[in-house]
Amino acid sequence: MKEDIIKFASSRGADIIGFAGVDRWPEYNEIPPEFWPTSLWSMAKTVIVMGMQMPLPIVDTTPSILHRETYETSNRELDSLAYGLTRYLNKAGQASMFFPRDGYGSIKNIIDKPYAAFSHTFAAKYAGLGTVSRSHNLLTPEYGSRVRLVSVFTAAELEVDHVMEKDLCINCKLCVKCCPAKVLLDETSAVDYYFKLDPIGCARWHEELTRRRAYPCGICTKVCPVGKDRYIYQEKDMSKIYRSEQKALENDINHPEYKSWNHFRRYGSWAIKNGKIFNYNEGGEK
Ligand code: SF4
Ligand code: SF4
Repeated sequence: MKEDIIKFASSRGADIIGFAGVDRWPEYNEIPPEFWPTSLWSMAKTVIVMGMQMPLPIVDTTPSILHRETYETSNRELDSLAYGLTRYLNKAGQASMFFPRDGYGSIKNIIDKPYAAFSHTFAAKYAGLGTVSRSHNLLTPEYGSRVRLVSVFTAAELEVDHVMEKDLCINCKLCVKCCPAKVLLDETSAVDYYFKLDPIGCARWHEELTRRRAYPCGICTKVCPVGKDRYIYQEKDMSKIYRSEQKALENDINHPEYKSWNHFRRYGSWAIKNGKIFNYNEGGEK
């Protein structure tokens, strides 16, 4: 059955697929029990997590119309993939349901209550697809954090995958340095693995990007050096270019290094407006 599921999902566009038993949630006990699969659906025995890559040259342009449209496409593709697999399993006599790729209806929902109804990130960790990084994103060996996820819950007891032992996050702090809203902070202690994140501040930044037709941000996913995709696109050492970007564009919006990325910010969205790239400190339009 597992082989058939992998074949089905791969033929419909899944780039990575992993299987987690529902006992992984209590075993790791990292998120509140009300978010565990068995609390959400008592029949659940296995969670199948599937991911689709976000191509690096597109993520590089964020915030832009190109990134926004690709993000929207990945959402539609993921939901359609999970919906299809759910129906496939149901027809095979295995009761199943799925959780769409985002568990919130609007940015306002996140500002009111900064939690999605289900975490695909932790599900992917428990399904052996990657590790949860200091920036709170899933990191995968293939695409770093440039991957979007969806999860199918099934009553079928399937062979599960091993959780990845090696931490993929190398603690380079590029995500902290480049966060435009300064909501990801290098404040950790010996017991606290994650960088401090202000989720409401991140959501407010997204609110403004939505008004500018350049949602979502994803700069923390763009700059992360982890992922074999960097080799495919020959973008191995981009840290200097990423670190200098905001300052360079504040000084010269036509800086040649960022010309092609800026094209998708100048046209089709308001990420660049009045000859300036939107800067968090300017405040947004009301
Ligand atoms: S940018 Fe560096 S610190 Fe941030 S998640 Fe990636 S590897 Fe970890
Ligand atoms: S999505 Fe953007 S604003 Fe939010 S933490 Fe990542 S870099 Fe910062």
